Amino acid sequence: MSQNPDPLIRTLQSRQPLCWHNTRLAPFAQARADCPFDADDVAAAAARLQRFAPCIRALFPETDTGVIESPLRRTPTLQQHANGAGELWVKCDGELPISGSVKARGGIYEVLCHAEEVALRHGVLANTEDDYAKLAAAPARAVFSQYCIAVGSTGNLGLSIGMMAAKLGFQAAVHMSADAQDWKKRLLREAGAQVFEYAGDYGAAVAAGRQLAENDPQTYFVDDEQSSRLFLGYAVAGERLKAQLDTAGVAVSRERPLYVYLPCGVGGAPGGIAFGLKLVFGDAVRCVFVEPVDVPCMLLGVYTGKHEQISVRDIGLSGETLADGLAVARPSGLVGRAVGRMIEAFVTVADKDLLQWLARAHRDEGLKLEPSACAGLAAWQHFAEDDAVHIVWATGGGMMPDGVFADYLAQA
Ligand SMILES: *Cc1c(COP(=O)(O)O)cnc(C)c1O
Repeated sequence: MSQNPDPLIRTLQSRQPLCWHNTRLAPFAQARADCPFDADDVAAAAARLQRFAPCIRALFPETDTGVIESPLRRTPTLQQHANGAGELWVKCDGELPISGSVKARGGIYEVLCHAEEVALRHGVLANTEDDYAKLAAAPARAVFSQYCIAVGSTGNLGLSIGMMAAKLGFQAAVHMSADAQDWKKRLLREAGAQVFEYAGDYGAAVAAGRQLAENDPQTYFVDDEQSSRLFLGYAVAGERLKAQLDTAGVAVSRERPLYVYLPCGVGGAPGGIAFGLKLVFGDAVRCVFVEPVDVPCMLLGVYTGKHEQISVRDIGLSGETLADGLAVARPSGLVGRAVGRMIEAFVTVADKDLLQWLARAHRDEGLKLEPSACAGLAAWQHFAEDDAVHIVWATGGGMMPDGVFADYLAQA
């Protein structure tokens, strides 16, 4: 490959960690026009999750209220790794019930959307005012068992969709890429999902799943590369976080902004969350996406304007990383176009730095994070000096077996 004339692309090719301040950034009042969704869509998603609370509570008593949410923790010891005026918090999505990762937001939401449709069509629910606890009972299961929910995944999306689908009584088919961890496949099989394995990457697993589902009218395919439902499920996090900050007595403003660091794979989770945050905080929130140095797909897609038309392999990168949740070579075009002008900056991080942060977060705060979930900590370093409220979105790790976690600690 001849040398690329663009210095940013050359830095990406060198795999040196970088921070790109998005030159396309626009005030939210303008940027929101790019997004095919609005506040009403997010409010409708929040209302749907609320309707389902009695069903979730019945199926997963550990959720208490039937609302799937994670704690926001102040992390003063971790904060000492930077001399900043700001305060550091960690949003602990690894502690989300049911599947222990950020995918418990969008993934479970999309399964619920489909379950609601099927239940209304079959008269299991009379209407959306009916008692949704019915969806956890035998007659609903008998209906759901005739249908299959399928998904392609690097691991955590499959875990969320598979767990939720199987618990409701659906058949579940999860198409896993080569990056997917064995323990994620095992948990899914134990839950009753069918797991298909592919030698190729995430894109190949999604394509195979999509193809099989197209030929089967009983199968509903969750398409991570272009799903509105996933995006809206994630976006509900915006108002949830606002409520947590209010409870903690933390105020943010244009003068003392909120920085939120979001690990990015295909883009659905960070994109949806960023949009939800923008709706709530407007220009007082600054969203930073973080990707591995070997897989900066969203940065590349937004920077070049080529979105899903470009893969990190096109610039000679491997697309391989220890951060399996972020091992996506080609970004979602839906997400890149919808939120590209809302993102403050894009940061890349080396795998060895992810492991360093994994060890520090454990030592300093007792957190149990998977490598993907540590990306935000590396990004925070670039902005830590700003007098601001910094929130690192720690996107997963809750279900990791202790032995797997011990191996990561040993590698660090
Ligand atoms: C999936 C995932 C992400 C990124 O979400 P995308 O929707 O793929 O961008 C981040 N962290 C973890 C742990 C994940 O599983």
